[in-house]
Amino acid sequence: MAPPVFRYHPDPLGSGSLVASDKTCRSCGQARGYIYTGPVYSAHQLDDSLCPWCIADGSAHEKFDAIFVDDEAFEGEVPEEAAEEITERTPGFNSFQGEGWPGCCEDATAFVTPAGMRELREQPDLEGLVLDHIIHQMEISGGAATRLLNSLHRDAGPTAYLFRCLHCQNHHFHIDYV
Ligand SMILES: [Zn+2]
Ligand SMILES: [Zn+2]
Repeated sequence: MAPPVFRYHPDPLGSGSLVASDKTCRSCGQARGYIYTGPVYSAHQLDDSLCPWCIADGSAHEKFDAIFVDDEAFEGEVPEEAAEEITERTPGFNSFQGEGWPGCCEDATAFVTPAGMRELREQPDLEGLVLDHIIHQMEISGGAATRLLNSLHRDAGPTAYLFRCLHCQNHHFHIDYV
């Protein structure tokens, strides 16, 4: 069975937050073929222990008082319902210093994937957009901006986290240092 669809994290298998696994979910007690590998903020130890269905229907959130994205992560105007859907019922993603989750068009953006230079170069324009972000949003210029851009790596910081607006389709970025 294909994993459930998440509005704000459309490809959790591609982003690495979900993996194929025969592990049993601590919430529903079933082995359903996929396990969530992202962060869990809870008093319980739930690393690599939840299936995506228990995240999608809110049962893991209710059962363990768990959230999957830091509720301080939102940047810009993100409506309450979107923030709730993301923190309580959407897979998060691993990062080094905590997530940043941009808003756009009066909604939260959707998380696409962590990326390094290799991934950015696979799509037209992304490299230039990330450099713009480094220069204008992070206010890093000149050689330091280029060095940061060239050091981006998917699995080792600094990493560029790609987001896309569900309305205007613009890309947004959060860059995390080690
Ligand atoms: Zn489950
Ligand atoms: Zn937008």
